Amino acid sequence: MIKLHDLEFVPFITEETIENAIDTIADQLNADLFDKNPVFIGVLNGAFMFVSEILKRFKFDCEVNFVKLASYQGTQTTNEIDERIGLGQNILDRTVVVLEDIVDTGNTITWVHKTLKDAGCKEIKVATLFFKNEVYKKQVTIDYYGLSIPNKFIVGYGLDYNGLGRNLTDVYQLKSIKMTNLVLFGPPGAGKGTQAEVLKEKYDLIHISTGDVFRYNIKNATELGTLAKSFIDKGQLVPDEVTIDMLNAEVDKNPKANGFIFDGFPRTEAQADALSALLKTKGSEVSAMVALEVDDEVLVQRLLERGKTSGRPDDADEKVIRNRIKVYYEETAILKEYYQKQNKYFGVDGVGNIQDITERLSQVIDQL
Ligand code: AMP
Repeated sequence: MIKLHDLEFVPFITEETIENAIDTIADQLNADLFDKNPVFIGVLNGAFMFVSEILKRFKFDCEVNFVKLASYQGTQTTNEIDERIGLGQNILDRTVVVLEDIVDTGNTITWVHKTLKDAGCKEIKVATLFFKNEVYKKQVTIDYYGLSIPNKFIVGYGLDYNGLGRNLTDVYQLKSIKMTNLVLFGPPGAGKGTQAEVLKEKYDLIHISTGDVFRYNIKNATELGTLAKSFIDKGQLVPDEVTIDMLNAEVDKNPKANGFIFDGFPRTEAQADALSALLKTKGSEVSAMVALEVDDEVLVQRLLERGKTSGRPDDADEKVIRNRIKVYYEETAILKEYYQKQNKYFGVDGVGNIQDITERLSQVIDQL
């Protein structure tokens, strides 16, 4: 086991396996490109080792160049690509081979592919050492890959965790952590916030309420707050992209957590997929969805009552309340099925006194 910054990693792929995979790619490149005088383009920083190993094995005329990009922050992939060093070479009418250390969602390779195409090269081939084919979602063809790997966060052989680990010649994966990750579910007013406060103490978990984070941002008039406010005031959902980015950032603030209580997230299938991907990068998963079941009319009465003291504009107006409940059934309740399919859904009666409800929830959590 090794430790990089705050995280522990365990051995995953040996140098020997990696080198055999590189031999195979190099054989294919020699066979396919011997008369093409290709330009190899390495994607920095991670690909430097792979580029060097490929170049050592390529037997014919070729050139090599690099682009420098970054799309990882911490252990999570982000959608934004930041070009740090552009390509300082004319590639008009050339055969180009992009050399990547790893392709996962495909954002980087799609961006590079388009940039090279726009620069007028004749033919583009893509070769990657590691390929997360389960998570790859893009159109660009991956012509050559060394090893296909599951969706784990890895370091070594050029790949880093916040700058460290690139010099390791074996590859390591993030050590799985036994976390308890609860999705606390139920319609607005079901008592999720109240129960989360109790459960976070009892089980030493971090409570993330997306509604609270939005309200905090609104109060402080941040850019995010301004964006979210127009949706929240009408009782509508804030767009997925905004919500998912925010949730990722909240989770990343707590790298040492024993687990999380997600309250008000996920609310859509896209959010549920994003949560699953995020937890996977931490070697973990959603443990259970525990849902508080409460009748609609009870909810309306509870929220109107809460509105007298909460100061929340979306609690004060019965029309907005009913719209939030409607949105819950139309857009959010499908998630019950999502987690039922994984045998992770647990419904709990949400009517009664607070302690009794906590007791019912604990019975579910204790057997996870
Ligand atoms: P809550 O405090 O959970 O009732 O959330 C209040 C409001 O914040 C909701 O009506 C939405 O407008 C917004 N919101 C909270 N969580 C999410 C989410 N996961 N996705 C989209 N919008 C959300």
